This record gives sequence, structure tokens and C-alpha cells, in this order.
Amino acid sequence: MLHRPAPVAAVSRKIMRVRFGVPVLMYHLVSDDVPAAFRDYTVTPRQFAGHVRTLRQFDYHSISPDDLLAARERRRPLPPRPVVITFDDGFRDCLRHAAPLLHDAGLGATMYVVAGLLGKTSRWMEPEGVDLPLVSVAEARELEQAGIACQSHALTHPSLARLGTPRIARELSESRRVLEDELGHEIRHLAYPHGSFDDRVRAEAEQAGYLSACTTQPGKVLPSDDALALPRVKIEGREGPADFLTRLVTGRHLGHPVRRQPSSRRR
Ligand SMILES: [Zn+2]
Repeated sequence: MLHRPAPVAAVSRKIMRVRFGVPVLMYHLVSDDVPAAFRDYTVTPRQFAGHVRTLRQFDYHSISPDDLLAARERRRPLPPRPVVITFDDGFRDCLRHAAPLLHDAGLGATMYVVAGLLGKTSRWMEPEGVDLPLVSVAEARELEQAGIACQSHALTHPSLARLGTPRIARELSESRRVLEDELGHEIRHLAYPHGSFDDRVRAEAEQAGYLSACTTQPGKVLPSDDALALPRVKIEGREGPADFLTRLVTGRHLGHPVRRQPSSRRR
């Protein structure tokens, strides 16, 4: 088979992404209680403390999705070594284990919460035998006081691209409304549940008033990226400190292959 070289533009964009992009770190659960079926998505408090130390050691500055957009629109410059720290789903254990470490280190973060399941459990993972408590409204407010701002992860955590357009619209606009009512601030940022989005979902996110939306596509964010389809840097529970540093700097995992569970569905 002939090897076809990648187009120059694609290669240089890849290099740009590794050298200059902003890493948007994607966490899920931070807990000592690691569900086997959710191992890839769970970082222990000890691992997380190591990540926070690395961020401090290399002088990373946490920024919000608003800061990222302001820099893209040239309204505000980025600090040196910017990083966006995000958590998906709103697991209660993150309040206990991640929030104090971030707060003590002077780092802010964003948590994408499932607006219709506040104070309930992660019922979308029931088929896989994983059922974890999610933050309540009061706990979401506690997170915000600790410097972790809550934004939207839709209303019920569906795969949006599989839904009809009216349901997509409801998931996106209703979650905004619920969170704005409960938390008393604007909700303008979204993470697509399961990373599921297409042109229709993107259009509905724009229509619902979101300014940014995170995907689960790997890589750092370049200024030319679509704000409603931002790539992220997945942080995996099975990986060590060197893997974390590699992902932080390059946006990708470049080392040895990671051993995976038979099912590694995106969240
Ligand atoms: Zn999720």
C-alpha cells in the first residue's frame, strides 16, 4: 500500500496545536472509591494532588471559558501558560476531594453539571452498573464559593446527536434556565454529554445562547477552533505523573499505549 503524506496544512496545524494551543483539561470523577467500569474516568485524590502540584510547579495559570473567549476575540490577553480545568457530570466526590486542593493552590475550574439531576445520581450509567451521587443545588453553590464555576452538561445527559431537534433544543435551553435560576448567574458554556454533537446539535447550542461548547475530541485549543466545538485534553485515571505532564504540554498521549477496559465509552 502506498503511504500518502498528510497535506502540509494539516501537519502544520497539528504542530501549532501541540506548540501553542491552550489545554482544556477534562476530568470526571475524583474519588478514592473507584468503580471498575469507570476506572478510566476516575482520578484518585492522591493523583489529583500530584496534578495540582505539577500545575503549580510549571507556573500554569487557570483561566475560565470566558477568559478563553475574551482572548480569542482579543478583548483580554491570556496569562502565561494558561490552562482551563474542567470536570464533567458534577460528581459529589469532586466537591470533597478536588475543590479544596484547587482552592488551596489558587486554581479555578469549571464543572459541567447535569441540570435535571442535581442532588440525584448518574442514572445514565445504570446499564453499566455505575450509579454515583451528583452535587445538589446547595453543593453546586459550595463549589462556586471554592472557585469552581458551574456550567451546563445538558438536562439529562443524553447523546444529543441521537435526539430529534425539539428535544435537543429543550435539553440545551432548559438546562440553561434551571441553572441560571438556581445559581443566580449566566450559563453560557456547555460540554456535550458523551461528546455527542453534530451540525444540528451545534446549531441548537448557538440558538440556545451558548458561547462555548466542549467536545471530547483530543487536543489543545487553537484560536482558529470553532468555539462551539472545542477539543479537550482527557485526563485518564490509569496514567502516571509523566503521562499527565505529556498531555498537559502536548494535548495528547504520546507514550506507551494505555491498557483499556473492554468498554471505553466517552462520557
Ligand atoms: Zn458526562
